Amino acid sequence: MIGGVEATPVDISPVDKFREFLLTKGMRLTPEREAIVNAVYAEHDHFDAEQWVTDLSGRRGAERASRSTIYRTLNLLVEAGLLRRVARTNDREVYEHDYGRQRHDHLICKKCGDMIEFPNEMISGVLEKVAEQHGFRMAGHRLEVDGVCAACSRPPARAHRKLDMI
Ligand SMILES: [Zn+2]
Ligand SMILES: [Zn+2]
Repeated sequence: MIGGVEATPVDISPVDKFREFLLTKGMRLTPEREAIVNAVYAEHDHFDAEQWVTDLSGRRGAERASRSTIYRTLNLLVEAGLLRRVARTNDREVYEHDYGRQRHDHLICKKCGDMIEFPNEMISGVLEKVAEQHGFRMAGHRLEVDGVCAACSRPPARAHRKLDMI
């Protein structure tokens, strides 16, 4: 758990929720799709799509799923509200669970790609006010703050030593 983002209780399992979503689209939960959902929810944190797809190929139940099937399923999971696409960092696509987790936003380090998660009720309040001023009905928000993390903004060790000698 990073930045105090908590799990929230859910009524139905991700697999059941996905099955219901697919039904509304006239699609079936194939064994491959089910294996992909289970693999997605076996991950704990954000996952890098490219790396994850490579790891997944050959895993039990998903060995017959092609890369394009996996990517298409990831898109369906986003549509179903089970996954959220977070900003690309270092040209990589990152996903995270959007189901059974508290709403939160992200601080994204442009140097190392690290992502810091934080829940903050005040942000939603401010955005709701802004939306209201524009007669806009807000359904949700995603806030990605660009910058440099604490570790990356620390001066290099050598600079420290030089300063100590003065
Ligand atoms: Zn960093
Ligand atoms: Zn997150």
